[in-house]
Amino acid sequence: MAEGTYDVVVLGSGTGGYACALRAAELGKRVAVIERDDRLGGTCLLRGCIPSKALLESAAVMDRINRSEEWGIRASGEVDWPKVLEAERHIVEKKVAGLTGLIKARKIDVVHGTGKLAAGPAVEIDGRTLRAADVVLATGSYPRLLPDLEVTDRIITSDQALVREELPASVVIIGAGAIGLEFATVYASFGAKVTVLEALPRIAPLEDEDLSREAARAFKKKGIEAFAGVKVTGVKDAGDHVEVTHEAEGKKSETITADVCLVAVGRGPNSRGVGYEESGIELDRGYVKVDGQLQTTAAHVWAVGDVAATPLQLAHSSFLEGMAVAERIAGQEVPEIDYAGIPRVTFSSPEISSVGLTEAQAKERGHEVVTTKFNFQVLAKANIVGEGGLVKVVAEKDGPVLGVHMVGPHVTELIAEATLMYNWEAWPADVARLIHPHPTLSEGIGEAFLSLAGKPLHTM
Ligand code: NAD
Repeated sequence: MAEGTYDVVVLGSGTGGYACALRAAELGKRVAVIERDDRLGGTCLLRGCIPSKALLESAAVMDRINRSEEWGIRASGEVDWPKVLEAERHIVEKKVAGLTGLIKARKIDVVHGTGKLAAGPAVEIDGRTLRAADVVLATGSYPRLLPDLEVTDRIITSDQALVREELPASVVIIGAGAIGLEFATVYASFGAKVTVLEALPRIAPLEDEDLSREAARAFKKKGIEAFAGVKVTGVKDAGDHVEVTHEAEGKKSETITADVCLVAVGRGPNSRGVGYEESGIELDRGYVKVDGQLQTTAAHVWAVGDVAATPLQLAHSSFLEGMAVAERIAGQEVPEIDYAGIPRVTFSSPEISSVGLTEAQAKERGHEVVTTKFNFQVLAKANIVGEGGLVKVVAEKDGPVLGVHMVGPHVTELIAEATLMYNWEAWPADVARLIHPHPTLSEGIGEAFLSLAGKPLHTM
C-alpha cells in the first residue's frame, strides 16, 4: 500500500478497535486498522473472553456428567485435555475467520505490524506513514504480574493458562476477580485442588457484598478454598511444584504447595513504546487519559478499550466505546457513557452478574434505598437444573431501579433484562406488572420485583 491517507486509523484490532473500525466504515469513512498480531481480534478473541468461555463450556459438561445421576442418567466421563484445548482453538479460529471476513467486507484496510503514533495525527509502521484525520488508540492491555515475579512453566497468567498443555492437579490462584474465579471454576470442574487468595476482604470484591457472600458459599460447596483479606508474601517455582506463601492479618504465614500458580491480579495498559507520550498524550498510571467523549489530550486522537482510563475493562464496554468514537468522528452527537449502566458478568460457576449501583454505592451517593433479595431455590426451574443463587434488587424509595445483582445459573444471560430496567430508569411497580414465562430462571427477577412491589407470589 502507498503512504495512505485515511479518515480513521485505528491502532489495535481488539474489541474496541474493531468495533470502531466497523462502525466508522459503516458511516462511510475510509478506515485502516493496524495490528501487530498475525490474527485480528485482540485479547478478547485470542486470549480472553472467547477461549476462556470455551474452556468453561467444557468444564460445565464435566460438571453435568459428574452430577448426571441427579437427573437419572448413569454416565461417567474423563477429561481429554488436548481435545478440550482443540475445541477451544477451533472456536477461536472460527471467530477470527468471521471477523477477518467482516473487516474485509466493510472494505477496511488491515496493516500488520507494530504501529507508532506520530504527530499529525498519523501512525508510523515499518517506515511508512499512514496519515489520518482521526486516530483511535485501542492497544489494549496485558496480564499484570506481582512485583519481582516472572512467568515460568509453573507461574502463569491467563495467557499461558489458556494454552498450557498439562492440566494441573492443584492450583493456587492469586486474585478473586473475574479471571481468578473463572479459572477456579475450570480447574475445579476438572478435578484439581483449587485455592484462591484474594487481598481484599472478600472474593468478587467489586460486587455487592451479598453477592460475594453467596458466591463464597457456593465455591466452598464445590470444594474451592478461597481466602480473602490475605497478603501473598512469596511465590516460588521450585521446579516440580510451586510454593505460595501468604498471611492473613493476625495469623502466622502459611505456604501452599501446588502444581501451578495462576496470577490473576488485573490487567495493565499497553501504552509504552507506541509513541503516545511523545505525541502529547497524557497518561494516568499508564492508561490513556480521556474526556467524557473519549478524546485524548492530543487533537483528533481518541482512545477506547482497556488502554483508556475509563472505569471498566470489559469487551462489551469496548464495543460501546468503539462505536461511540466512530459516530463522534462522523459528526454525530453521542451522549457520554454511564458506566454503571454497563452489565458486569463473571462466567464462574455459579455465574455472577450485575448492573447499576451496589447497595453500598447507592447509599454513598445519598439515595434513600430499598432492597429485596430473592433466593433461586424457590423457583421450580432452578430446582430442575439443580442450582441455587440469589437476585438482589436495589431501588430508590418511591423511585427507580438503581441496581440488580445476581449469583446463580445463567445470570450472565438474565442480566440483559436488568440492563434495560436500570438504563430506562424503570420503577419496581411497573416491572412487577410484567409476568415472566413459567417455569424459567427469569422468574427470579420477576419474583424479586413482585416482592419489592409489596406483592410477593412464591415468597412471604
Ligand atoms: P480484577 O481486577 O477483576 O481482579 C483482580 C483481583 O486480584 C482483585 O480482586 C484484586 O484485589 C486482587 N489482587 C490484586 N493484587 C493481589 C495480591 N497481591 N494478592 C491477592 N490478590 C490480589 O482483574 P482480573 O480478574 O485479572 O481481570 C482483568 C480485567 O479483565 C478486569 O477488568 C476484568 O473485569 C476483566 N475480565 C472480565 C471478564 C468478564 O467480564 N467475564 C473475564 C475476565 C477478565
